Amino acid sequence: MNQTRQHIPPSCMDDQDSESLPVDEAIERVCTQIEPVVSYEQVALRSALGRILTEDIYSQIDVPGHTNSAMDGFAIRGADIPTDGQRTLTIIGTAWAGRPYKGHVGSGECARIMTGAPLPAGTDTVVILEHAEVEGDVIRISAENQPGQNVRAAGEDIARGDLVLRAGQRLLPAQLGLLASLGIGEVKVRRRLRVAFFSTGDELCSVGEPLMEGGVYDSNRYTLHGMLIRLGADTIDMGVVRDEPEALEQALLQAADCADAIITSGGVSMGEADFVKASLSRLGEVGFWKIAVKPGRPFAFGQIKDAWFFGLPGNPVSVMVTFYVLVQPALKRLMGEHDASPLTLRMPCLSKLKKRPGRMEYQRGVMTLNKQGQLVVDKTGPQGSGILTSMAAANCFIVLPMESRSIEPGAEVEVLPFSNLV
Ligand code: AMP
Ligand code: MG
Repeated sequence: MNQTRQHIPPSCMDDQDSESLPVDEAIERVCTQIEPVVSYEQVALRSALGRILTEDIYSQIDVPGHTNSAMDGFAIRGADIPTDGQRTLTIIGTAWAGRPYKGHVGSGECARIMTGAPLPAGTDTVVILEHAEVEGDVIRISAENQPGQNVRAAGEDIARGDLVLRAGQRLLPAQLGLLASLGIGEVKVRRRLRVAFFSTGDELCSVGEPLMEGGVYDSNRYTLHGMLIRLGADTIDMGVVRDEPEALEQALLQAADCADAIITSGGVSMGEADFVKASLSRLGEVGFWKIAVKPGRPFAFGQIKDAWFFGLPGNPVSVMVTFYVLVQPALKRLMGEHDASPLTLRMPCLSKLKKRPGRMEYQRGVMTLNKQGQLVVDKTGPQGSGILTSMAAANCFIVLPMESRSIEPGAEVEVLPFSNLV
C-alpha cells in the first residue's frame, strides 16, 4: 500500500497545499482498495429492509397478471363506440376485483366493472361511470370515448422474465413492495457490516459522567453511531480511549478482531498524530493523508489485520463531513452497494460565504423556497469545525470547489442535500 504522501501531519489552517489530495481522488483511492464482503444470508422480505441485495431479481410473472380496468365503469367492445351521436348498450353482468365476470360480452352489450377487475372476454375498453348515462339495464355512451381507454394491460408494469432489481441495490420500502408484488417472500442479502468505533482524547468525558475541569463531552460517538445505523451497519461502540499508545494499540487490536471496519476520531492532527502514527505502524498498514477538504484535512486510512481503518479528525463537524464524504462511499462499497453519484442542485446563496482557494469546502446550509417559489440556500451560522449547531440546523452542504474564492450574496452555488444519513 502506498498512501503515505507526507510524513508531517498537516495543520488544519493552511489552505493552499500542493501535497493535499483532492476529495475525488481520495474517494477513488480508498474505494479501489476495498472489495465487498462476500457472505450473504437469505432473509424474509420484512427483514430485508435497508439491506443490500446480492442477486439479480427476475420476475416469474406478469404484473399486472391480467388485463384489468383502471377505473370504475363499464367494460365494452371498442368497436361499439359510435362514430357520432350516442349508442345504447345492454348491461349483462358485473366484474369485480377478485371476482371476474365469467361470461362473454357481445356486440351491443357491456358489463359493469370495478377498478382492478379483469376485463371480461370480448371487451377491450372501459367507459368510466361519469361518462355513461345509466337507465335501468342499459347505458348510453357517446362518440367521445376512445377504444382501449382506461385499461391496464397484462404485463404493462413488469413482464415475465424482466430484470426487476439488480444485485447491489439497497432495499427500501418501494423495493420491498415491488418484490412482494412478484410474490417473492425471501431474498439473498449481503451480511451486515460490523463497524467498531471509539473516540481518542484525554479531555473527553462520556455522557453520564460529570464534566471534569477542562473536559469536553464526547459527541463524536453519537454522530458516528447515528450515521452508521442509518447506513445499515452493526455498531460496536468502544467508548473513549485515552491518549496513551498502549491503550490505543489494545483498542485497535480488539476492534480489528471483531469488526470489518474501525473508525476513530481525534489524534490525527498536528501535534497529536505522532503517537497515533507510531501505534498504527506497529499494527498494520496505515497512511496519513492530507485531503484538500474543509472542514477535515487530516485523515488516516489503511488496514489493521483484516479490518479497514479510518482515522478521522477530532472536531465534531469535521467528523461528520469526513464520514459523509470519504467513509460513507467506502462503507457502501464494503457492503456491496452500488452507489450512484449523489444528486446535487444549483441555487442562489443568500449571504456571503468566506472562502480561500485551495480546499473543497462543505459549508452547512439550509435550503428553503423563497416567496417566488425558487429554491435558495443560506449558511446556518458560524462554520467553525467544532460548531455542531451549524450542522444541526442544516439540511444540506453548500459545496464550494477547491479553486473557488468567497461567494457574494446572490451567486449560484452547488448544494448537496443531506441523504437520510445525517
Ligand atoms: P484532535 O483532532 O484530537 O486534536 O481534536 C480536535 C478538537 O476536537 C479538540 O478541540 C477536541 O477536544 C475535539 N474533540 C476531539 N474528539 C472529540 C469528541 N469525541 N467529541 C467532541 N469533541 C472532540
Ligand atoms: Mg485529541
